[in-house]
Amino acid sequence: MAFDAEAIRKDFPILSRQVNGKPLVYLDSAASAQKPRAMIEAMTHAMEYSYANVHRGLHTLANETTDAYEAARRKAAAFINAAETEIVFTKGGTEAVNLVAAGIGSWLQPGDEIVLSQMEHHANIVPWHFLRERKGVVLKWVPVLDDGSLDLEAYQALLGPKTKVVALSHMSNVLGTINDAKALARMAHEAGALVLFDGCQAIVHKPVDVKDIDADFYVFSGHKLYGPTGIGILYGKADKLAALPPYQGGGEMIGAVSMDEITYADPPHRFEAGTPPILEAIGLGAAIDWLAGQDRAAIAEHEHHLYAHVRERLQGFNWLRVIGEAPGKGAILSFTVDGAHAHDVAQILDRYGVAVRAGTHCAEPLMRRFGVTSSARASFALYNTLEEADAFVDALTKTQAFFA
Ligand code: PMP
Repeated sequence: MAFDAEAIRKDFPILSRQVNGKPLVYLDSAASAQKPRAMIEAMTHAMEYSYANVHRGLHTLANETTDAYEAARRKAAAFINAAETEIVFTKGGTEAVNLVAAGIGSWLQPGDEIVLSQMEHHANIVPWHFLRERKGVVLKWVPVLDDGSLDLEAYQALLGPKTKVVALSHMSNVLGTINDAKALARMAHEAGALVLFDGCQAIVHKPVDVKDIDADFYVFSGHKLYGPTGIGILYGKADKLAALPPYQGGGEMIGAVSMDEITYADPPHRFEAGTPPILEAIGLGAAIDWLAGQDRAAIAEHEHHLYAHVRERLQGFNWLRVIGEAPGKGAILSFTVDGAHAHDVAQILDRYGVAVRAGTHCAEPLMRRFGVTSSARASFALYNTLEEADAFVDALTKTQAFFA
């Protein structure tokens, strides 16, 4: 049976609002997704009924909240086929990469190599640049081919005895390209490198099994996965997390502290200094429950259908350039309109109630690779409909008329 987007929309209160007198057409889910009622209610319930700080109380509310917080960790673990001790709560995808880079950086030597790709988000570039600046490591870049796929031959050629870390996007937030994480991990491991995947986009659109991929680290954010902001997940293989030094110091991450000495807690608590994002973890757990209860194959098919429909309708628009056409790509459409700045395109689309992103998408090396300074981006989610896809194309046609 086809996926019923109309039914699912009822779970998202915000989708019934209007923008500029028009029904909202929200095509910016790759930046941040809207929130299902189940997740909103889980956070509200916690605040209204059972809330206290975690891991430090002997009273009922503290115990209940700790149980809910740790239950969220188990949900995140099950969602990606990890053990719960392999799940660290962070404040987002960005912090998760920073945590890993800072930890690994403590044992890297000048001249060690880190392999990234041209399609990375700045979240998976800048923390490694810190190591280039501070430790003298060398960054190597896997090129992106014209269609938006990774140049795998070049990747293979970059790997060598000096490669210590490979950090790659599982799915590009600009091109929609979905990389074969399992193959990329195998090649990295053959070279003796650790491999981290930025799964911020991929996790939303396909089931992820970190054991099958054989990722050493896998990071994603809550807010793109229909969960709240302020929460992200770092998955790390048990032995890899155990080898990482702490990222921040404070309460809850220690074994014992004296005036002369300190020992650290085991993962994951070693990496969760201070009061963690308790409500956000509970919200993310509810979002994961909600999503895991949907037919994910049908969702993927639905999103693909929306993208294919839009792409088909755009054929023959000679004023439009699409960036990223890799085979098997996800439902993200990046484009430029001849003679128009992407910001202007987005602002005019907004007049028609259509929300898209415009700018560099925190991927400046990729923008440069494609010879553009910015692009507009429409990203499709499970709650978008074919009518919305058509409304987008119609609004885009009217928008272009401003620049013709
Ligand atoms: N990586 C990718 C591919 C992303 O799309 C984003 C969000 N734009 C991030 C990392 C950053 O994640 P967060 O917003 O959770 O810090």
